[in-house]
Amino acid sequence: MIEKLVNLSHLRPLKVVGKHLFKTPITVQYPEERLTPPKRFRGLHLYDHEKCMGCGACAKICPNKCIELKVTVGSDGKKKIEEFNIFLGRCIFCGLCIDYCVGKGVLKNSPEYEIAGYDRESLLYGIDRLDRTKKSASEKIEGEKK
Ligand code: SF4
Ligand code: SF4
Repeated sequence: MIEKLVNLSHLRPLKVVGKHLFKTPITVQYPEERLTPPKRFRGLHLYDHEKCMGCGACAKICPNKCIELKVTVGSDGKKKIEEFNIFLGRCIFCGLCIDYCVGKGVLKNSPEYEIAGYDRESLLYGIDRLDRTKKSASEKIEGEKK
């Protein structure tokens, strides 16, 4: 009985709570508040199809086969990117496609992380969608620099 009375182990959780009670919280009230990702954050890909050479290195190196591209050669002998798709539903954001991209600044990382969707189809990014997201992500990057 006395042992039970002096056993104060049930007060331990209160000690932990007390320790953290006056500390600044490390969480934010998303979506009202948003954290700024670090500089090297691997978010949504930024793709510049005007500069893309259609070499296919990004698609070959991707471990999850997320990238598909269709390239045709015109009568002038120049390559034309007909299709460039990234299926983000399979992407693990390893960044290999960006590291191995042979074009300068063709494929880049952005700090955009709000890319969740309600179905698999919504995670497919083609040229047009990548162009649109490139614009919005670039504006975001500029806004964060200010
Ligand atoms: S980040 Fe990795 S998984 Fe995603 S598309 Fe690029 S190579 Fe593939
Ligand atoms: S590696 Fe770069 S230049 Fe080559 S197809 Fe992919 S995005 Fe285009």
